[in-house]
Amino acid sequence: MNFIVLTIFPRMFDPFREHGIIRKAIEQQKICVSAIDIRDFATGKHRSTDDRPFGGGCGMVMKPEPLAAAIRSATKTAPLAKKILLTPQGRRFDQRVANELSALNALILICGRYEGVDERICQDFIDDEISIGDYILTGGELAAMIIMDALTRLIPGVLGDKESAEKETFSDNVLKHGQYTRPSSFEGQDVPGVLLSGNHQEIDKWRLEASLIRTFLKRPDLLENRALSKEEINILKKWCIDIEKIIHSQSIHGPGALSGGQ
Ligand code: SAM
Repeated sequence: MNFIVLTIFPRMFDPFREHGIIRKAIEQQKICVSAIDIRDFATGKHRSTDDRPFGGGCGMVMKPEPLAAAIRSATKTAPLAKKILLTPQGRRFDQRVANELSALNALILICGRYEGVDERICQDFIDDEISIGDYILTGGELAAMIIMDALTRLIPGVLGDKESAEKETFSDNVLKHGQYTRPSSFEGQDVPGVLLSGNHQEIDKWRLEASLIRTFLKRPDLLENRALSKEEINILKKWCIDIEKIIHSQSIHGPGALSGGQ
């Protein structure tokens, strides 16, 4: 995947390129990350990329000419690239959007600064607007990195284990179960015995149940969009019955009734 980032702070992307899976993916030529300085396309004595807003008001707005020239230049090197403006007003980035974008070969990510970019750029030069969440950043650079990071993990061969990306939280509208590593006992807390049993069928069963219950407790909204299997429905029903038993017993006999008042 070819990522071309348009920014007034291209050096921000140096450390991004130099670490972990991103660095490996670049070395393996699975991705290419180029950060293009929008200022290189600015004209005039000061090569400024921003100006005051028409109509008055606070802050500065990114001028259209340097942005348009930078987008045109990037499009020449990657004619089929999707041009994405990072903006808090865009559609929300999530794993579904990450999956969708990961099917593409090239993206041009346009990072705003100040009060954002001149509206004519939004109207005529971009294909998509993406927000990474309902909060305001000082610039689009971190948003671009988040998108590139999430997409890179989905590129076949980037993660060591093929299953890693497939069995991840959100990959199927369910949160991933809790995970444990050595030691098996830590400060009085033991790893669930089934995980030490070597019985893979039982381990898979435990993981499914742990995932479902965790999702139900933390993000019940996700379950509404998951096509539940019969086994999954049975797991949830069993939990409902157990919860109902506790509520019923406490409402009749008071707290601790099920354990004999202990
Ligand atoms: N004045 C703009 C508004 O109210 O919509 C916000 C501008 S923000 C301070 C500057 C730049 O940061 C934006 O142009 C955009 O590129 C980036 N940005 C800020 N928050 C973002 C978010 N949640 N998602 C993606 N990009 C964001």
